[in-house]
Amino acid sequence: MSSVLVLGAGMVGTCTALHLQQRGHQVLLVDQRGPGQETSFGNAGLIQREAVEPYAFPRQWSKFLQVALGRPVDVHYHGSALPGLARALFSYWRESAPERHAVAALHHARLIAHCLAEHQPLMQEAGAQDLVRQQGFRKVYRSPRGLAQAVKDAQRLEGQWGVRFAAMDAAALAQAEPELRSVLSGAVHWLDTWSVSDPGELVSRYARLFEQRGGRLLKADAQTLQAHGSGWRVRAGEGWLEAAQAVIALGPWSDALIRPMGYRLPLFVKRGYHQHYSGQTLKLPMLDAEQGFLLLPTRQGTRLTTGAEFARMGAPATPVQVGRAERAARELVALGPALQVPPWLGSRPCTPDMLPVMGPAPRHRGLWFNFGHAHQGFTLGPVAGRLVAELISGQAPWLNPTPYRAERFL
Ligand SMILES: Cc1cc2nc3c(=O)[nH]c(=O)nc-3n(C[C@H](O)[C@H](O)[C@H](O)COP(=O)(O)OP(=O)(O)OC[C@H]3O[C@@H](n4cnc5c(N)ncnc54)[C@H](O)[C@@H]3O)c2cc1C
Repeated sequence: MSSVLVLGAGMVGTCTALHLQQRGHQVLLVDQRGPGQETSFGNAGLIQREAVEPYAFPRQWSKFLQVALGRPVDVHYHGSALPGLARALFSYWRESAPERHAVAALHHARLIAHCLAEHQPLMQEAGAQDLVRQQGFRKVYRSPRGLAQAVKDAQRLEGQWGVRFAAMDAAALAQAEPELRSVLSGAVHWLDTWSVSDPGELVSRYARLFEQRGGRLLKADAQTLQAHGSGWRVRAGEGWLEAAQAVIALGPWSDALIRPMGYRLPLFVKRGYHQHYSGQTLKLPMLDAEQGFLLLPTRQGTRLTTGAEFARMGAPATPVQVGRAERAARELVALGPALQVPPWLGSRPCTPDMLPVMGPAPRHRGLWFNFGHAHQGFTLGPVAGRLVAELISGQAPWLNPTPYRAERFL
């Protein structure tokens, strides 16, 4: 077994470090901040067993028109970013055609199928069960037509992938969530999904478990990564940290590191915001599926998260979706005042074929990729960590890794 540097202590990097450690490697986990303080901190906290099909690019012209007019709550874009994003978005649109999306779903569903079984032991060993609700989450619908279509889609998913749901009418929903102030048509309650009341804290506890088992968690800038002898090194405050192998698990920052190394992968981000409001208004997380925002009960208050913003990663925040989503959310529940200003901003690390990049770096020995988990990186961290750790250890992987290799883009 060799020494391994894992770059990035989000959900994906931390789980990769834990799985490498379990396989006898000496692991150095590095981040420029503490563990779980970026994308894995601010997300909607869902461990999405139901998310067997990845998010497709909308194919209806009516949706394009609405987006172009700047109307929807769920999508926003920076016009100035579009030229730079055009190629990746065109490719994303093409990969979202029904027959291609079906292939992506097949490979996505194989990962998602293991999310609960892989999180469960880590949660137990990290003493994190107090953060987790195992009662599912609800997608709610304002219109009877939206609900009817959603139930039909859910029946198809249940038949195809075995993901369980319960259809709820207006009365059942009002009984389950008495704080709902307006009458909704009903909900699809996904029964197997889990939710976390403090996503960043879950990553912190996983990182603490890694340290308790003898792993080293250090601050360093991953941008200083260099090939060194037959291995790799990064510069930390106390000097160079060296290891035989390195894993890039920098989420949305991965592209900035691999591009100068000659890898031009079609990576892009979908930015998203969250805002907390005082008071607990809901028992379970709830996605307003027709408006496109989510409400999650958290330890910090009720967290509202937004849909996708197409923009450059470092561009200034433009939280117009938070304002729109807040107005729509206040129609449903009595949210208290906003707790932090400005809203939190993060970036989902995305690929056009909706599958993560996991496996060896094609042109560098001892270098590995584990990023691009898009809307489900919090869900998939332990699955992704196990797959990459098995590959590094030369074990037969329990999932076929081919669909996730970086070579598919080169
Ligand atoms: C609004 C929103 C809601 C979401 N909801 C969900 C959800 O409900 N369920 C779900 O599964 N997923 C959700 N996601 C997606 C999920 O959050 C991401 O896919 C996941 O967090 C990615 O994890 P990661 O470890 O790859 O990246 P990150 O968590 O971003 O970790 C990358 C790490 O790299 C570090 N880093 C960056 N640059 C450097 C550097 N130069 N040197 C050292 N360290 C560096 C960062 O500090 C960070 O800790 C959501 C995302 C958003 C934005």
